[in-house]
Amino acid sequence: MQEQGTSALFPTYGRYPITLVKGEGSRLWDDAGKEYIDLMSGIAVTNLGHAPQAVKEALIEQLNQVWHVSNLFHIPNQEKLASLLTANSCADAVFFCSTGAEANEAAIKIARRYHQKVLNNGRYEIITFNMSFHGRTLATLTATGQDKVKEGFLPLPEGFVYAEYNDIESVRALINDKTAAVMLEFVQGEGGVLPADPTFVKQLAELCKQEGILLIGDEIQTGMGRTGKLFAYEHYGVEPDIFTLAKGLGGGFPIGAMLGKGFLKDAFSAGSHGSTFGGTPIATAAAFAATDAIISGKYPERALELGEYTVKKLESKLAGNPLVANVRGIGLLIGIACTQPAGEIISEIHKQGVLVIPAGPNVIRLVPALTIPLEDLDRALDVVCDVLAQK
Ligand code: PLP
Repeated sequence: MQEQGTSALFPTYGRYPITLVKGEGSRLWDDAGKEYIDLMSGIAVTNLGHAPQAVKEALIEQLNQVWHVSNLFHIPNQEKLASLLTANSCADAVFFCSTGAEANEAAIKIARRYHQKVLNNGRYEIITFNMSFHGRTLATLTATGQDKVKEGFLPLPEGFVYAEYNDIESVRALINDKTAAVMLEFVQGEGGVLPADPTFVKQLAELCKQEGILLIGDEIQTGMGRTGKLFAYEHYGVEPDIFTLAKGLGGGFPIGAMLGKGFLKDAFSAGSHGSTFGGTPIATAAAFAATDAIISGKYPERALELGEYTVKKLESKLAGNPLVANVRGIGLLIGIACTQPAGEIISEIHKQGVLVIPAGPNVIRLVPALTIPLEDLDRALDVVCDVLAQK
């Protein structure tokens, strides 16, 4: 029996009253033909815009060859993509999956297994941060430092503890002989677009090294050029032992990845982890094309420039607006922190033909495609500022 209107879907999402049916570049159209400028990219997914040509061509070519092959066979597209990702990062090995939560599950599992099977020290505890977001599976919602995602899902897995973001002493206080890893977003996305402090990240990486603790970077929202570097850890001059990707990796096609340093390879063996759909020929064809296009098109550099431009423009147009506390972010992951809940403002911006999303209750999050034309960005920012001026 359906109780929620006529929908046969579980009501896990509060949906905006918009049905998007077509997308091209940074434009989307709804079922009534209304056009929108997209400043949300499906929540940091379509980093190359909608239907990017290179990804479309790679998908069509692969669709004409083979769609799905079991991971019990060699999959050349996986090897190609893994080589591209490791050549452009601090990692030496990759495990493919389909979502961000699944990538973080793999990160948590390999961290524990490295300590328990390679070092034989029995360590299992993972330190994460208050206000973090790591996913919706049982382990990743437990890793998430926000109580609201945990309500009604008890019992939760053991072995997760929470430190204060940007507070090295609170991390130090949690370390004990069971600590296996620290898991960090270099910019807390869902938590409100909060970049980590550079000194804190440096101290954290050093502390982890001293204590034999693995550093896991959750780059699911920050990766693939979003922050102005291919991976956000590059801003901080540190190398995580493990990092995770999803969202922007496939240019809109579902794929996730857990990447790690070479010394972690022995922690997994045949049968210790897996995923039926992890790294299918189609998903890895899309992700190779998207990653190659991001790197060769120098889109991280463009994100950095456009991000600086956006923050400057917003700061100058919003100066003195009592609704705005501050503008923050790195690259094209930007938050306008409001002095009150931003829900109504966001709905009005949607009505004016620009798509943005919240990050926490008070922050308007802007995550446009790294390819957005400057004229579109300008027009959309004017709409956002005008709505904030009129509210
Ligand atoms: N980690 C971070 C930082 C995220 O922003 C998200 C999604 O918003 C996730 C993990 C979970 O990714 P997914 O929804 O693909 O499972």
